[in-house]
Amino acid sequence: MTGLAVLLGVPVTHSLSPALHNAAFREHGIPAAYVACDVPPDRLAEAVHGLDALGAMGANVTIPHKQAVQAHCAAIAPEAAVVGAVNTLVRGEAGWIGHNTDVAGFLTPLADHALDGAEVTVLGAGGAARAVVYGLLSAFSPSRITIASRRPEQADALAEAFAAHDTAGALAVAAMEDAPAADLVVNATPLGMTGREDHTPYPRADLGPGQTAYDLVYRPRETRFLREAAANGAQTIGGLPMLIGQAAAAFELWTGRPFPTETARRAALDAFAP
Ligand code: NAP
Repeated sequence: MTGLAVLLGVPVTHSLSPALHNAAFREHGIPAAYVACDVPPDRLAEAVHGLDALGAMGANVTIPHKQAVQAHCAAIAPEAAVVGAVNTLVRGEAGWIGHNTDVAGFLTPLADHALDGAEVTVLGAGGAARAVVYGLLSAFSPSRITIASRRPEQADALAEAFAAHDTAGALAVAAMEDAPAADLVVNATPLGMTGREDHTPYPRADLGPGQTAYDLVYRPRETRFLREAAANGAQTIGGLPMLIGQAAAAFELWTGRPFPTETARRAALDAFAP
């Protein structure tokens, strides 16, 4: 019998997740298929219950369902509860368990970074920024994490939501145009993605050697934000390692097998090709 894993979101037509997971299933000889399905918000409940009836091993959940899907879970894993978003469904005895693997994905390319005592700026205060801020607070002890957003109330709400985890008092907020330079600057907005390549969330040239620009956007692989930071000598991290990191954590939850990262990375790069 062929196992089934599904991505629920809209639009998901151009998602790289099928390429990543199907390459990983093949590498392990697991007879399973991963398919991306456009699911409108008013059909989410049916889709989640349908997956159960079909015997799916699990699912990923993306925009716009990461909050709404929690209502259809039998339980929410602690990390997903803190972040307030579910991106992975794993079979439990009583129904779907909602997990958040974006936190692990975000931290994947930072494994070699020493961020204790560092200053960090997070651009944007949406769903991904929540995983970023929680990841930073749980894995490191930065001296400052400034959340910069175009709507002040959104950054305030994010800082408020994580106040209990901010034992060092590192969280601060700023308007987008006042985002301070930092050891690590993370773009958690869609600015710079394909279709908006000429945009940048950080139109300044004040990042340089010793500093890191990290863009969650993974299409294109090198955004204007990263290109400009690299031109000034800053280190850069694109969104692909995070995408692979969150896929790895989901795959391991579904199958109990190690994710073949290099195979998946090659599959993603092939899928990027025109
Ligand atoms: P989201 O919940 O919609 O949040 C987007 C944030 O960006 C919000 O704070 C939004 O502010 C802000 N923003 C949007 N357009 C802006 C603009 N023109 N100027 C200033 N701020 C703007 O989206 P998300 O889920 O957090 O995703 C954000 C980005 O991260 C997307 O590009 C997504 O593809 C990427 N991402 C990548 C990965 C990965 O694995 N690499 C994982 C998750 C997300 P408003 O609310 O005011 O619009």
